[in-house]
Amino acid sequence: MPDSVLPFFSRSYEEARDKFLLLSKKHGAYSCSYKHPSACAPNGAPLTLETAWIGPRDAKNVMVMVSGTHGPEAYTGAAIQLNWLNGHKGFPSSSMAMLIIHGANPYGWAHSSRTTENNVDLNRNFVESYATDTCSQLTQQVQELLCSSRSKGPRFKRIFIGLIKLLLSDGITKVVNEISNGQYTHAEGIGYGGDSAEWANLTIRAILDEHLKQADNVTIIDWHTGIGRYGEPCFLCFDEPYSEEYQRARSCWGAGIDKSNVGYSSGQRPDYQGLLINAARDIAQGFGAKTTTAVIEFGTYANLKMLKGLLIDRWLRYHHDKENLKISAKLQTQMLRLFYPQDLRWRTSVLQHSETIISQSLTALNTDDAS
Ligand SMILES: [Zn+2]
Repeated sequence: MPDSVLPFFSRSYEEARDKFLLLSKKHGAYSCSYKHPSACAPNGAPLTLETAWIGPRDAKNVMVMVSGTHGPEAYTGAAIQLNWLNGHKGFPSSSMAMLIIHGANPYGWAHSSRTTENNVDLNRNFVESYATDTCSQLTQQVQELLCSSRSKGPRFKRIFIGLIKLLLSDGITKVVNEISNGQYTHAEGIGYGGDSAEWANLTIRAILDEHLKQADNVTIIDWHTGIGRYGEPCFLCFDEPYSEEYQRARSCWGAGIDKSNVGYSSGQRPDYQGLLINAARDIAQGFGAKTTTAVIEFGTYANLKMLKGLLIDRWLRYHHDKENLKISAKLQTQMLRLFYPQDLRWRTSVLQHSETIISQSLTALNTDDAS
């Protein structure tokens, strides 16, 4: 396995940011840095969301790559961005540019948490309105269960047994939806979408508003990890099947687009609310651009193990204290590795697949221009 992939995968938020800034500068990128107005890194250092625009400022065909919507997944998205930057030698046409959004949720990244400074899942925060007053009985039951904790960590056994009971009474689709869709009533729960737009949400919207005004064709990828087969890409296209946008995604990335549901234990994709990718698509379309969009996940471990990761993430936020530093450190590493495997084979596979996917995206953008 090539050791050459290793430099692209960082060990900390700061290390990744430094590498990104250095390489962006080398490529003469138009870069912007957005400082978080209130939150800091664990060592007190400022948190920033960085962008780099590579290519002519008036490019009509623009590709956007987002990393780090969910904190620990940022390492992989950032490695993909860095690897592309490192190998970039020019675009297939002159009216083409790449916008890189590096570390969409810098708080989550620096603090090794999937959520923002307000325990908000940023990828459930891009909704039109935040309905915080209605809560179904199932939401209540699921959230109470998921939050079962003790001083040593989440009560895994109790939670899993409780979930099995709910699966038997309510059916797998309903329960998986309940865990995954996003909820707006339990601020300390799992999958909380917030009660207003997060700083990261507003910042990303402002970045897209600034950069996409002139664009005619926009391709957007939001890189994630945790769904799908180990080290393999899993495409999640949220456009209506067989719409123009969907067909474009399919001709760009292939039949993988049709397999959007394969990675889910219920066999059906949850009805996610407040996705960043849909908000980004709507902004681009608002400027009159044709869009091709997907969330692309790289699979890590089985769904049940990943649920354990979500439970640990929440526990660390609300139950981590001076009395349990050792156990917290152990759980934090466990959670990080679930979303960011150290395995060289996994990392190599991710970068190889991402190179193909980005190349397909740029080729399709070039074709869109010609059509
Ligand atoms: Zn994610």
